[in-house]
Amino acid sequence: MAGIYVHIPFCRSFCIYCDFYSELFSRKGSESFFKSFSEECALRSSWAASSGGIDTLYFGGGTPSLLTLEMLGRMMVCLADNFDLSGLVETTIEVNPDDVCSNPRDWLDGLKGLGFNRVSMGVQSFDDGILKWMNRRHDSREAVRAYSLLRDAGFDNISVDLIFGFAGLDDDIWMDTLAKTAALPGGGPEHVSAYCMSLEPGSTLTGLYREGKYAGMDDDAAAGQYSMLQKALAEAGYVQYEVSNFARPGKYSRHNSSYWKGVPYLGLGPSAHSLSITPDGRRMRSWNSPDLASYVAGNSLGGYELLTPEEEEEERIMLGLRCVSGARLEKSKAAPLVNDGLLVGLPDGFYRIPDDKLFISEYIIEKLL
Ligand code: SF4
Repeated sequence: MAGIYVHIPFCRSFCIYCDFYSELFSRKGSESFFKSFSEECALRSSWAASSGGIDTLYFGGGTPSLLTLEMLGRMMVCLADNFDLSGLVETTIEVNPDDVCSNPRDWLDGLKGLGFNRVSMGVQSFDDGILKWMNRRHDSREAVRAYSLLRDAGFDNISVDLIFGFAGLDDDIWMDTLAKTAALPGGGPEHVSAYCMSLEPGSTLTGLYREGKYAGMDDDAAAGQYSMLQKALAEAGYVQYEVSNFARPGKYSRHNSSYWKGVPYLGLGPSAHSLSITPDGRRMRSWNSPDLASYVAGNSLGGYELLTPEEEEEERIMLGLRCVSGARLEKSKAAPLVNDGLLVGLPDGFYRIPDDKLFISEYIIEKLL
């Protein structure tokens, strides 16, 4: 089975750390996007036939929660007209707390009616000073209110995004955010994604860093906050299943897990990426045009590359070792890292990175490749 990712290229404002592609939201812009999106769906409709069916659908961005129900409904109809969605088991939409709070209650009922059964909400922090610095549009009270509204509307699979590892986030504030996350109504969210702040090439934060106006956090301090994250969420009953992802038992993200397992996916919308299997069994990566202007001009596909067998192998190892299920490795290759305590053996020739080394997973993976 495969997944479909839909990139909604709009935000109402831009967060300091982010470089995902998006434009300022406008009704007119969303209409042009939809027209090209429907054309892209028709163009790619044969894709699913070679993928063994579709079991996950993910609306990300950008900010999908800026779209009206009517627009989301039209997009769903368009997807259903072009792809067989009868095997869908997980349909996720990313939301921002301010949109959840400002939309009428029937907007949430409408999302359920459209088939969304999982919500991923960008909370990032429960400290208002930090949220302001990040240029988020919500404060901590609004995040709690949005979460409660989602629960009241019957969503029983909610994921919350958090960020740690940046200058200004002291350990007490981080612990407080973790405690408040686990204490959210209804037993806390089913899923938590927590990312270490990174300097993305096009972000405002990277600009500030280059100008000497942001210093970052040193690696040891960030590693300490990662340990706090692991400990606090384990104590609250979450299971870590990937470097940045924690879930109640059985509530892991099927869609994101497919990426790490190397399952094919189709990305629709500007800047989206896809992974396909060619008729002769090769793996092909493709990417859409990077911006809305070229997307609406009718050039949805940006380019593609066929992976060499070596690249396929590297990707399998890299993605597998991000997960606690690990990757199959040659014993001779794994042995030095096992001796150094950087890998542990699992049954059937699999190895994984131990919990207390997951923070340096990129360094460990690099040593193997
Ligand atoms: S984090 Fe989300 S809301 Fe903020 S700029 Fe990035 S895509 Fe937009």
